[in-house]
Amino acid sequence: MVYEEVLKSFFVGEEVFDVEKTVFGSGSPVCTILAGVHGDEVLGRNVAERFIDILDDKELKGSVQVITRANPFACSSDTRLTPWPKFERNEGEVRDLNRCFKAAKEGIENSRSLNITQLVAKSLLEDLKNSDVVLDLHNATSGGKKVAQARYKVSKDFSSKVVEVMERLARSTVSDFIMESDTGFVGGSTVSSILPLYKVPVITFEVAGGSTHIEEDFFEYIKLVENVLVELGIFGDGKKSSDGHEKTNEPTVFHGIRSMYSGSFGYFKPTKSLGEIVEKGDVVGKIFDRKGAVLEKVTTSFNGFIESLCDEGVLNEGNRIANIGVSKKDLK
Ligand SMILES: [Zn+2]
Repeated sequence: MVYEEVLKSFFVGEEVFDVEKTVFGSGSPVCTILAGVHGDEVLGRNVAERFIDILDDKELKGSVQVITRANPFACSSDTRLTPWPKFERNEGEVRDLNRCFKAAKEGIENSRSLNITQLVAKSLLEDLKNSDVVLDLHNATSGGKKVAQARYKVSKDFSSKVVEVMERLARSTVSDFIMESDTGFVGGSTVSSILPLYKVPVITFEVAGGSTHIEEDFFEYIKLVENVLVELGIFGDGKKSSDGHEKTNEPTVFHGIRSMYSGSFGYFKPTKSLGEIVEKGDVVGKIFDRKGAVLEKVTTSFNGFIESLCDEGVLNEGNRIANIGVSKKDLK
């Protein structure tokens, strides 16, 4: 069984914008694939769209709901945020859908007034709180590379059962990297910080997809998401894929990110690679002037691993060079 359902409609500038989902199968468990929370994250949106094809002719035990354009305004213009001023009346209103779910929860519980992006969040939240699991698809949008990773939030306000399920499902992706961070990490207003309060586990996917790496990441991304559907028993024969080889390594679990920035304008050449373990004092890359002389050795002040790394090329002072994934004990 396949059907589409409109969760909410908006009429802006002579055009109708729908928050909608496509539903495959029936009964439980209900897993929702959510993409387009950030409209410029095209890789995540393409993965969700591919699932509409993948699920179409699959025998499912339970149901999968796919939302490809969570923020229909941002997706219509391929921008991260709801475009202003077309869709928001007031400058300065929160236009990042993934910072609107706390307000949306208050809107549901106390009927507070909400702006248009918060209303989108509210319509999503009202629907998603009936799911058994939500898979929240994002991707990096800056240049450079990022390790593919599954993420989930922890908080003393979440039941330990929900946290256990999130841990199990994050591992079931067979991703090499898992980030377990507290809800304060990006302000506590993301869908991944709010839905677990309704006892709905959320796994967030962060896969590259910056300027250059779309093709290879696309297939890896599909596998990571598919593996969770297999774990949930929704489809497949119980076998998970991990690039064709048997998975033996434990994933690297990290708890936060520390960024490193360029101190000068120049040509950057990395000396470490993506995913590599680094220690405080290690040189991650060098910046050269026009004549090829070393201007700067970029050293990390953190222990961890290279979570993302910018491509070799010209940098401005202040550009981000790398993110270091750090564990709890190194976060302080
Ligand atoms: Zn995002």
